[in-house]
Amino acid sequence: MPEIPDLEYIRDTLNWRLAGARIVAVQVYQPIVLRSMLREEPARLLVGQKLQRCERHGPFLRLRFSAGLSLICHFMLSGRFELVEAARSQRPRHPVPKSACLALEFELQGTRLIYHDPKRMGKLYLVEDVRLAEVPRWSSVGLAPLSPAFTLTAFQSLVRGNRAQLKSFLVNDENLAGIGNAYADEILFEAGLHPKTLCSKLDAAAIKLWYESIGRVLDAACREVRWRGEPIEVKVRDFLKVRNRAGEPCPRCGTTIRRAGVRGFDAFFCPKCQPVQGKTFIDWSKIK
Ligand SMILES: [Zn+2]
Repeated sequence: MPEIPDLEYIRDTLNWRLAGARIVAVQVYQPIVLRSMLREEPARLLVGQKLQRCERHGPFLRLRFSAGLSLICHFMLSGRFELVEAARSQRPRHPVPKSACLALEFELQGTRLIYHDPKRMGKLYLVEDVRLAEVPRWSSVGLAPLSPAFTLTAFQSLVRGNRAQLKSFLVNDENLAGIGNAYADEILFEAGLHPKTLCSKLDAAAIKLWYESIGRVLDAACREVRWRGEPIEVKVRDFLKVRNRAGEPCPRCGTTIRRAGVRGFDAFFCPKCQPVQGKTFIDWSKIK
């Protein structure tokens, strides 16, 4: 699932490459992922539209078009964009992979933006701007971690009174928008907090440390992803410290990184740097 650093990079790349360009052709390969909230055929509505800009709203990307129309993208687990530059897309018989669901061809000598989704779990919504609130989950998106609204006070009031475990809290878009499994693990590692700790167990100092870790981890990841400059379909994750690193040594203390299930999600953590709080949990530091 693309998370904030991935989405910010895709947004910036699309703005740099495509803003101001007009769509000249549309191919819908998998109608099931494209939900139109208008009566007309989506392809007919999109052809001729000029992309004004791309914006991010939590886990969504919004492509804003000229005539008060937006294409809202919610990538879920396996959705991704690919930008096929003019030279490649004009190659004779350029094959369209089975994962392709939608292709938007722009006037820039045939540059194409392709939405791939092998599991077809993601959703694209074509909607009039005035009806954005009708897009499922659009209006319930929570606090945006990189925005000015993400203050310590706002975060404290979200955390206090919440009964979730820290990992579940982080991946819930209604709390903080745009954090998934990968960055939730990295944030908790940075803060030295165990993923199964309950929000209600944190004191003011721990909440502050957690809050600062969110900003620090996401800022650093945004910079890293931008610096790498990979094509937008590539998810740059090899610099993460604990995510998907079970069995490897913790980069901070050398203890073996563990994996645990947290309410349907998995969590990777260092049992020494992220000690368990309370007695109801397994003491991972004593298990070899
Ligand atoms: Zn450690």
